Amino acid sequence: MEEKRKTNFIREIIEKDLEAGKWDGRVCTRFPPEPNGYLHIGHAKSICLNYGIARDYRGTFNLRFDDTNPCAEEQEYVDSIKEDVKWLGADWEERLFFASDYFERMYGYALRLIEKGKAYVCDQSLEEVRRDRGSISEPGKESPYRERSVPENLELFAKMRKGEFSDGSKTLRAKIDMKHPNLLMRDPVMYRILHAGHHRTGDEWCIYPMYDWAHGLEDSLEGITHSLCTLEFATHRELYDWYLEELGVYHPRQIEFARLNLGHTVLSKRKLLLLVREKHVSGWDDPRMPTISGLRRRGYTPSSIRSFCETIGVARMNSIVDMVVLENSIREELNRTARRVMAVLDPLKVVITNYPEGREESLEAVNNPEDGSAGTRKVPFSRELYIERKDFMEDPPKKFFRLAPGREVRLRYAYFITCREAVKDEKGNVTELRCTYDPETRGGDAPDGRKVKGTLHWVSAKHAVKAEVRLYDHLFSVRDPNEVEEGGDFTDNLNPDSLKVVKDCRIEPFIKETDKSERLQFERTGYFRQDPEDSSGESPVFNRIASLRDTWAKMQKKK
Ligand code: ATP
Ligand code: MG
Repeated sequence: MEEKRKTNFIREIIEKDLEAGKWDGRVCTRFPPEPNGYLHIGHAKSICLNYGIARDYRGTFNLRFDDTNPCAEEQEYVDSIKEDVKWLGADWEERLFFASDYFERMYGYALRLIEKGKAYVCDQSLEEVRRDRGSISEPGKESPYRERSVPENLELFAKMRKGEFSDGSKTLRAKIDMKHPNLLMRDPVMYRILHAGHHRTGDEWCIYPMYDWAHGLEDSLEGITHSLCTLEFATHRELYDWYLEELGVYHPRQIEFARLNLGHTVLSKRKLLLLVREKHVSGWDDPRMPTISGLRRRGYTPSSIRSFCETIGVARMNSIVDMVVLENSIREELNRTARRVMAVLDPLKVVITNYPEGREESLEAVNNPEDGSAGTRKVPFSRELYIERKDFMEDPPKKFFRLAPGREVRLRYAYFITCREAVKDEKGNVTELRCTYDPETRGGDAPDGRKVKGTLHWVSAKHAVKAEVRLYDHLFSVRDPNEVEEGGDFTDNLNPDSLKVVKDCRIEPFIKETDKSERLQFERTGYFRQDPEDSSGESPVFNRIASLRDTWAKMQKKK
């Protein structure tokens, strides 16, 4: 992770702490995912923030699975999360932790609170607990089980652990204050009974800690200094502090920042899971998904995602970031680094009638105008070529500078050609153009100084490689898909045109010499890379990572 760092309010807090000699000069951060789904670009923001801080202040960064809910969690998610964090370049070294490894110690801490008279076993159902909690304007009602004695609580809690009670029949609750202005402080549940197998601890436990109880202890046990989380947890901070204070254990500082929201997509694991389950997408790694695995498959680089996270910064106000900011991060990088090739997505045949049959020649093309060291390559030219269908119009409007009957244009790196005739089928569709070329214009310029207004990309028909190309657009057609009409559902906002498959695309033969994983610019079309799953030597499949420009913004303006 070499990107240059901007400062932000969290870094300012850390620098002040370091100056004041707080935390013994340590900086220790963590990324604490729950393994109940794949990571998305919002998580990347949190990873880059936590890892970047640890690295820049010579601290440590932990990867910790917050695996306290056996119902939704799976090993598949653990594996994918590790792969994604590693891919992003965040190194947890040997510090891989699981909340489930702390269950025994958490249990011990719970006993301590019971002994202090600060926790009790409650027989109310979760519904009753919720019902009696009150509201902002109304105080809560104390549980009838609140005054149980310490010995009784200890005995019942031990029995809860042993599995003597059924799911939901009892909870352990903190004894705080049912009139507290913060609803989370009204005797929150610490443990619930769940007879469910856990992906790591199996059947060892049938009581599971609630998030607020578990999270602070995890941070405390690992000696975290700054516990960074998203704004929704600001109201939880009071409870986080209360638990650690009452236990008298090491007490990290929780700091909240604004979560990333990205336009034209959703960043909620629940919603992403639903898209996968209901097969609106092909899987978690569908290239249209805002998941790390989707972006990786699409062709994004780890450095482009890190630079995106750097660009958006860290603030305390929620907002929606435009998708274009993410796309620009990969455009900027690939503009510098990607080699160019010519590819025709919608081929229209061109026959150069004055070019001798059977002749071919090699023309020199620049691999990357932004990078002199990328060198040049040879592009074959012959009598039959393909150009982009949309680069020809029989009856062009004024501003159309490409090919039309009688019009002369430049073929990139090759010759000037003039269109003499458009051949049509019986339905009137143009099937072929008959053109002549000017042999004097080899390399793309006329010795007599005459100019043409259009330059087209092209491929030689008999040399070209056939490929499938997948063009992606926003997964949702509205900026905030979470806004739905009454009775509707966020999937109503899915963009029906988010994937366009082009089967019969032709690419210059140079791609046979490139690596499957190389990201290329198809001139005038966009940045592409072969699909790591579906592409093979005989039938290459390319994903469009991004178009060359922000075509979406242009379209929106036109509307
Ligand atoms: P859900 O989407 O179900 O609410 P989550 O995204 O909060 O879950 P976690 O596994 O709890 O999932 O997240 C791990 C960490 O990533 C947390 O510290 C969380 O604050 C952070 N995080 C999650 N979403 C975002 C986001 N959109 N932007 C920034 N950080 C995020
Ligand atoms: Mg969460």
